[in-house]
Amino acid sequence: MSAGAATRLDAMSVMPEVITENTVHVLDHGFVRLDGSMATDLSVVNAARVSFARRKEEMDESDEGLIRFLMRDRHGTPFEHNSFRFHIRAPIFVAREWFRHRVGSFNEFSMRYAKATDDFYVPEPEDVRSQVGKPGAYSFEPVDEELAERTREELRDVYEHAFSTYERLVDAGVARELARSVMPVGAYTEFFWTVNARALMNFVSLRAADTAQREIQRYAEAVELFFAEKMPVTHAAFVATGRVAP
Ligand SMILES: Cc1cc2nc3c(=O)[nH]c(=O)nc-3n(C[C@H](O)[C@H](O)[C@H](O)COP(=O)(O)OP(=O)(O)OC[C@H]3O[C@@H](n4cnc5c(N)ncnc54)[C@H](O)[C@@H]3O)c2cc1C
Repeated sequence: MSAGAATRLDAMSVMPEVITENTVHVLDHGFVRLDGSMATDLSVVNAARVSFARRKEEMDESDEGLIRFLMRDRHGTPFEHNSFRFHIRAPIFVAREWFRHRVGSFNEFSMRYAKATDDFYVPEPEDVRSQVGKPGAYSFEPVDEELAERTREELRDVYEHAFSTYERLVDAGVARELARSVMPVGAYTEFFWTVNARALMNFVSLRAADTAQREIQRYAEAVELFFAEKMPVTHAAFVATGRVAP
């Protein structure tokens, strides 16, 4: 690798120094990291009780009942007075699915300004699957060992070729914003996502479900862990009401 290329690689999207605590590793090179939060069960209770000019400093049993009632009767707005700020590293195809969730704020790593990552998603052999059935009712079956390995090899070959082409074009002076055209959707990207509990529950409801693609399911499960840790009563009520966002 040339000295110039090495310098540019310093600006790659990987930020290992911040991947310490509050991080759940997902897939082969991804993670969900809770960068910050302002999220408690009490925020739900106080948002609801302001209707009666009441405010609590601590949760009690009646407040837990109130949260269950709000969830069950789909009074959704008291679940909006909180926020979770996540830092996520995921393949581009997962990020595309994620960005469809309009309620929330996103900022993504830019392949115009920094060099693309050379980390690409290669599924574990047990995650290589076939697709059986009709749209809306697919089932995903494991494939034999030989096909699983061949798939992984084919992916690696394409990734290697794509990335070396990208590097060659950048080294030759082509703008990153154009050279990135060769990058496959299995390349990793990074983004920040800030979301309130109501929209987070909608995301988890749709994306941690069996009907969601397996890769985003793993991310949604990681998001749900943080949600359950910060807002345990709200999370339990969400689960008890069939995992439907209020
Ligand atoms: C299994 C699965 C398969 C999918 N397949 C496809 C596909 O093939 N093609 C495709 O394009 N997308 C697909 N999607 C994406 C899907 O259509 C939604 O865009 C995505 O799940 C975001 O959901 P949402 O709109 O509920 O979330 P958000 O955008 O976060 O919205 C949250 C809620 O706010 C309300 N809301 C937001 N915006 C509006 C609005 N403009 N008008 C009224 N209410 C609004 C709604 O109540 C909504 O549920 C798929 C999603 C899943 C889970």
